[in-house]
Amino acid sequence: MTNTKQQQSGSSSEEQYDAIIIGAGMAGLYQVHTLQKAGLSVHVFETGSGVGGTWYWNRYPGCKFDSESYSYGFSFSKDVLDEWEWSEHFARQPETERYCNMIADKFDLRKNIEFNSRIKSAQFNEEQQRWEIETEQGKKASAKFLITAVGPLSAHTMPNYKGMDSFKGGSWHTARWPKESIDFTGKRVAVIGTGATGVQVIQEMAHMAEHLTVYQRNPNWCAPLNNALISKEEQKEIKAGYPKMFEKCNETHGCFIHAPDMRSVFDVSTEERDALYEKLYTDRGFGIWVGSFFDTMFDEKANESRSEFVANKIRSRVKDPALAEKLIPTDHGFGNKRVPLETNYYEAYNQDNVDLVDLRVTPIQEITPKGIKTAAGELEFDYIIYATGFDPVTGALNRIDITGKNDVKLKDKWSEGPLTYLGIQSVGFPNFFTLVGPHNAATLCNIPRCIEQNVDWVTNAINYVQAHSLKQMEPKQESETTWTAEVLEAGSQSPFMRVNSWLSGINSNVPGKQKRSFQVYAGGAPAYRGYCEAEEENNYSGFELS
Ligand code: NAP
Repeated sequence: MTNTKQQQSGSSSEEQYDAIIIGAGMAGLYQVHTLQKAGLSVHVFETGSGVGGTWYWNRYPGCKFDSESYSYGFSFSKDVLDEWEWSEHFARQPETERYCNMIADKFDLRKNIEFNSRIKSAQFNEEQQRWEIETEQGKKASAKFLITAVGPLSAHTMPNYKGMDSFKGGSWHTARWPKESIDFTGKRVAVIGTGATGVQVIQEMAHMAEHLTVYQRNPNWCAPLNNALISKEEQKEIKAGYPKMFEKCNETHGCFIHAPDMRSVFDVSTEERDALYEKLYTDRGFGIWVGSFFDTMFDEKANESRSEFVANKIRSRVKDPALAEKLIPTDHGFGNKRVPLETNYYEAYNQDNVDLVDLRVTPIQEITPKGIKTAAGELEFDYIIYATGFDPVTGALNRIDITGKNDVKLKDKWSEGPLTYLGIQSVGFPNFFTLVGPHNAATLCNIPRCIEQNVDWVTNAINYVQAHSLKQMEPKQESETTWTAEVLEAGSQSPFMRVNSWLSGINSNVPGKQKRSFQVYAGGAPAYRGYCEAEEENNYSGFELS
């Protein structure tokens, strides 16, 4: 085992490690911690200048959790659980970025993180049995193990409207928001996109800008976040209740604190049904989505009453009836896409300074030096905000040139969709692990809950390889074939497959990503955990160990 980094003789600038991790977000932070603890020499390359990943890059106004803060934080350290106090039930981005920095400092992780450093290529050297990487900054390094912690939603995408570069005002994608504060007072602002990000930025910008124009292509079903400060009393209850809460999270499909009501919507009276919807609508968080009658998730007929309930809420909150109808989805039922959680989002449209442009009626024709031109004419802006989403799941991996055995590129191997075992390894790519990777349950999860599971599993696997003086770990072909079929089967049953969204593998801005393909495991975190545990118990019998 190499315990300190070494300079390879003959190769002037190549550093050698036991493990290289790509990314210092939540997954990368916990992975470097566990490998440091295991005594491995480990190095993280991080594109940003600080830790946090998602919570580093997405610093747009209004960015905050949609999972309860206390259910989102790490569970691995009792000290952290005792010491850290979330201020709100759903923390804002600056607080979460501070949390990530606290984790990096408390566990002395920075010494092994190299910032402002983006890995452009990674190649498996079959002779040396090592991964060799090169950064965009020209640095070379190698390691026995290569672990990606790049996030399923980190490769942001811009539309390709004519004239985008000609715009003379300021414009940003929400995932590349500048660190300097921007004064929107007296400014005319456009937001393009109404997903979970767009909704958060729109409701905030409605109060910051002099005038806000929202460019909506398809509306989303949104529900109230019902955020609040955490009182001293609640703080005590949260701390005392951590073990129970994490246990409960582990039992639910997506590791949220909300569990479905196991009654069918058809087994209760209309009054009882609406009473539950009302309660969930006014409770905090995702309850109205994942805590409702179980069949509202899977059965379109069962889902109809919930969609109608939420549609009527929107109608009651938006004063202009025609505008309300534009904000109500008609192409999918409530919850068949990721539900954006909102705070007075619908009320923003009652303000005189907020307008909606329906891109289905008047599509954008071009971005001009002064603003945005649609079939209805040109509107002038000081700022344009692109909340246009991400190249999902495989996007961040595809942006790195990853080459395995026999010079096969990961991108080519996955050109018709990912092929993996447990969403964590792929045949031909030994000792290469994808945390929160394609085919993994972690993307459909309250992510840090699944990150901890993924990281613990990878750490145990690496410890096993090291303890048995093995050189390589790689899935057996039949394991990959069976798992890929299992992922596709689970995906075909998923309600998310019914509609176009990043969850069904679609991003209209990415060539080749207009075809529906399920890229994540939809069988739920408990089932996924079971498969992973079985592998560990069977000494990784689904893998070639050499
Ligand atoms: P998204 O859900 O993919 O939404 C992108 C939006 O941009 C959609 O409204 C899309 O319209 C629109 N759009 C894309 N390209 C466009 C174009 N060329 N012209 C006009 N409109 C265009 O992306 P997101 O809102 O960034 O959210 C992605 C995911 O990130 C969420 O589902 C969630 O998982 C995560 N997220 C989490 C949080 C949180 O936990 N607090 C907050 C924000 C995001 P169409 O619908 O018509 O394609």
